[in-house]
Amino acid sequence: MSTALTPAELTAAFTDHFGAAPDGIWTAPGRVNLIGEHTDYNEGFVLPFAIDRTANVAIRLRGDSTARLLSSYGDQGVATVDLDTLSHEAMSGWTAYPLGVVWVLRQQGVAVGGFDLYLDSTVPTGAGLSSSAAIECAVATAFNDLLDAGLSAEELVLVGQRAENEVVGAPTGILDQSASLLATDGHAVFLDCRTQEAKLVPLDLAAASLLVLVVDTKVSHAHATGGYAARRASCELGAEVLGVAALRDVDDEDLAEAAGLLDPETFRRVRHIVTEDARVLQTVAVLDDGGPAAIGALLLASHASMRDDFEISCPELDLAVDTAMAHGALGARMTGGGFGGSAIALIPAAAEAAVRAAVTAAFASAGFTAPDIFAVSPADGARRLA
Ligand code: ADP
Ligand code: MG
Repeated sequence: MSTALTPAELTAAFTDHFGAAPDGIWTAPGRVNLIGEHTDYNEGFVLPFAIDRTANVAIRLRGDSTARLLSSYGDQGVATVDLDTLSHEAMSGWTAYPLGVVWVLRQQGVAVGGFDLYLDSTVPTGAGLSSSAAIECAVATAFNDLLDAGLSAEELVLVGQRAENEVVGAPTGILDQSASLLATDGHAVFLDCRTQEAKLVPLDLAAASLLVLVVDTKVSHAHATGGYAARRASCELGAEVLGVAALRDVDDEDLAEAAGLLDPETFRRVRHIVTEDARVLQTVAVLDDGGPAAIGALLLASHASMRDDFEISCPELDLAVDTAMAHGALGARMTGGGFGGSAIALIPAAAEAAVRAAVTAAFASAGFTAPDIFAVSPADGARRLA
């Protein structure tokens, strides 16, 4: 992924394309989910942290109803739409993310008029690091600021989620937007997705001489059309048969009885959610107690559950996890929605070179596309940059 334009460079690029300087620049990060996968839409628990990869947007309000949008990524050129006649069809491709946010804000009575927008992001797309929420959260934060809309961070989370659900068509929960909006440097966000209550949990990797390595497998996932929706449907079926509002309400002790009520596949889907919720709670407790060095086994158990019960891993993700573990990782798991994207490995900082080399070599000998491997650290959430 290219490096970010500095605020001065972004201002210059914006001015070059749109003929006037932006009103400001806003930033929002991508995220790594440390643990708690597919639990968000089951009203359960997740533990993401924001990463030091961000979507930055420069915006200028125009005073008419025209929106012009440009991204430094790819060569799509400028997209131009009239906000007053904005249809779902007009919000296609990457512009569905920023325009989706604008559409939701307007639905909610925030009078967003015409604007020029330039996006520059260092969050790799489709890697399971939520490049989509980074865009949504940067744009939502920008208009909230520019128009003095007075929306809280929690309300902006829901704006981003509605854009993703109703405009992009991806049935995702609130995990990504919560991480991008609520995170702070050196912390993970422990989120109860039923109450939307968030608590910051210290995640000081450097103090423990650890780091989190991301292995982007380059296997692309497609949430809007892929298995994500099927998994979500299985969870809804499971909750319905078990007579609960959401799988959050099923405990470990209920699983034996659930096995007799559900078909084998739905049961395995349910078991992943129930055990994953428990693992998130345990991870928070262990972080509190022993710090990040003690959470490795929980990460690995999470991966096994996603691979075997929820069946959202793939050979590349499994190889990344297994190879990292064989070369000194304390724990490793796929992260994000699955079916490709990235794995994370919690490793001693001193093992970085060895793990990188081993994963690269393992992918080459398996005949897989070369992965992109990079370290991430827990970073601040969305805010104004300039
Ligand atoms: P993820 O959120 O895991 O990265 P998604 O499929 O949810 O994957 O979102 C990826 C999509 O977001 C891309 O296909 C593209 O439409 C959009 N996107 C992300 N980053 C950029 C960017 N820098 N420029 C333009 N579009 C982007
Ligand atoms: Mg996404």
